[in-house]
Amino acid sequence: MNFSSSLNVTLMGTGTSTGVPVIACDCAVCTSPDPRNHRYRTSAWVRSEETSILIDTPPEMRLQAITYGVRQLDAILFTHSHADHIFGLDDVRRFNFIQGTPMPCYGGEETLGDLRRVFSYVFMDTQAGGGKPSLELRPVEGPFPVRELDIVPIPIFHGRLPIFGYRVGGFAYVTDVSEIPPASMDLLQSLEVLVLGALRPQPHSTHFNFEQAIEAAQRLSPRQTYFTHMTHDVDHETMNRELPSGIELGYDGLTFEVNP
Ligand SMILES: [Zn+2]
Ligand SMILES: [Zn+2]
Ligand SMILES: [Zn+2]
Repeated sequence: MNFSSSLNVTLMGTGTSTGVPVIACDCAVCTSPDPRNHRYRTSAWVRSEETSILIDTPPEMRLQAITYGVRQLDAILFTHSHADHIFGLDDVRRFNFIQGTPMPCYGGEETLGDLRRVFSYVFMDTQAGGGKPSLELRPVEGPFPVRELDIVPIPIFHGRLPIFGYRVGGFAYVTDVSEIPPASMDLLQSLEVLVLGALRPQPHSTHFNFEQAIEAAQRLSPRQTYFTHMTHDVDHETMNRELPSGIELGYDGLTFEVNP
């Protein structure tokens, strides 16, 4: 890993596919005044002095970019193609306009195929008019560079669906995970910060619940783990207090530095 400086990471969304508050829900979390209980759909912004990368483009991408001040974007890493991870992709147009170049979008073959299908208008020949994002889809087959950063894809399972987490230096982002194969556990050793999907206390077929996420975090033992992709079953204040040391709930806007 060849970093000239440290990485900054901002969690721009930490909510499950519904977001929190959930539409038409009056539960204690959805009506909570605690801003840490307000969760946009899951994504992260990773940046060094030179380079700026988003992981996934959820439906709130525009709001997230404005809220956290994303002004430059060198690449997008896609974990998988579920709607909560891709439906903000059209907002890449603004970065195309500012930067004058197509946006490199990295993901597994299946994910990129889904982007081509779901966003078919992007890849059709239509009249020019600035109405479409300009994307350069790049299949992930192994580690790859984005400018000076080395990106390591981490194969994981989301139910039966093979998807990717990503590692950049001492930081790894592993969401929508229900199984981390042994070879990928090896790729997640000696981390400073692990961001890990943990849906809720109750079990689920395609996501780690809290117990499973805690077990994985303790086996990997990074310096710090933050949970993400949480439902409205999770009250920040009370549940954060109950987690083992070195594990905390993430929240929208949480920013940390990683020294690779
Ligand atoms: Zn998701
Ligand atoms: Zn609720
Ligand atoms: Zn998913």
